[in-house]
Amino acid sequence: MTPAVTLVILDRDGVINQDSDDYVKSLDEFLPYPQAIEAIARLSQAGWTVAVATNQSGIARGYFDVATLEAMHAKMQELVNAAGGKIDHIAYCPHGPDDGCSCRKPLPGLLNGIRDVLKLETLEGAWMVGDSLRDLQAGDAAGCQSSLVRTGKGAHTEQKGEGLDHARVFDDLAAFTDWLLC
Ligand SMILES: [Mg+2]
Ligand SMILES: [Zn+2]
Repeated sequence: MTPAVTLVILDRDGVINQDSDDYVKSLDEFLPYPQAIEAIARLSQAGWTVAVATNQSGIARGYFDVATLEAMHAKMQELVNAAGGKIDHIAYCPHGPDDGCSCRKPLPGLLNGIRDVLKLETLEGAWMVGDSLRDLQAGDAAGCQSSLVRTGKGAHTEQKGEGLDHARVFDDLAAFTDWLLC
């Protein structure tokens, strides 16, 4: 049965590209996983809408600016396009943990924003894929199904084991995509 909403929302760092404890601060430090780019293209080609929801507090902390972030996202989109797919919307939170915003995951603001931009009535049936607990919590809060990947911080998140009761766990985005499209 086709789900009501064919949407996959991806966290960025640790899912699409290598994460860094020192933040991904420049285009040079933005290192996409080839398997993830390929997987996004496969999702698009199979008719899934793909969006990205990413916390980027490095902006609030002054480590990089919005223009740099947009350059990374242009690069990401370009790679996905070259692989034959597209990212339909990229939502990011530029705030820090103490800014009191409503978009920083684990809050569902970014995901609800994606729902509105894509003119969907609900996120029921949509997937949220991340490598951190807060991604899954944001997904749960927005009514998505949640999946953890072991790339980035994912193996550590799995090891901690907290909050994973409803999450499917996969090695990486390629493995999630294999499962979703099978
Ligand atoms: Mg992440
Ligand atoms: Zn925010």
